[in-house]
Amino acid sequence: MKIILMGPPGSGKGTQAVHIALTKGVKSISSGDLFRENLSMNTELGRLAKSFMDKGEYVPDKITIDMVMGWIDNPEHSAGFVLDGFPRTLAQAEALEERLADKGGVDRVIFFNVPEGVLVSRLSSRFICRSCHTPYNDISSPPLAVGKCDLCHGELYQRDDDQADVVRNRLSVYMRETEPVVDHFRQMGKLFEIDASQKIEDVRGLLEKAIR
Ligand code: AMP
Repeated sequence: MKIILMGPPGSGKGTQAVHIALTKGVKSISSGDLFRENLSMNTELGRLAKSFMDKGEYVPDKITIDMVMGWIDNPEHSAGFVLDGFPRTLAQAEALEERLADKGGVDRVIFFNVPEGVLVSRLSSRFICRSCHTPYNDISSPPLAVGKCDLCHGELYQRDDDQADVVRNRLSVYMRETEPVVDHFRQMGKLFEIDASQKIEDVRGLLEKAIR
């Protein structure tokens, strides 16, 4: 199963990616997490990505494509995968389709549809585990203990780019760069749209149905 989760920032892709990968027995990867891991290890890639991430801009295609293709080429991921946050531009979509051409291409592209007002309020109350990247939300899915991850007891933190002015730019970059990619998959007949403004469990049910 090769699945792509698409949708604006705050649409809940990360929350569902981990779950769906577990149930399908494949790995999931978030391009944003790959950049943040590089950042926490202070690699050259991480330092370069930070300058774009801090402003809510996309990291240039060449850098992003090389990083994600490196992950896909790992034999451990050849059985299938869930991609969260990639592709986000038409150039990234083309590179992915080319790489998967002899592997049957992508099986499903799921589009998480959420109204803008809901996105902004979700992002401003979001906290992430520093170790395993599980997202929590102060309002809709708080952790059992304040500031601690339920799964690995890692420290929870708020991302710098979840601040209001950066969020606004992330949403406008998404509309400019990524909506054409959503249309591209829609025209190919590969897009399954789900109402991701609902509760986590309900979205999970819709997602499972779309993948079946
Ligand atoms: P995310 O965790 O998916 O919200 O991504 C955080 C940030 O990482 C984005 O705002 C971009 O700066 C960068 N990023 C993640 N994925 C991509 C991508 N596919 N293309 C370009 N930049 C990306």
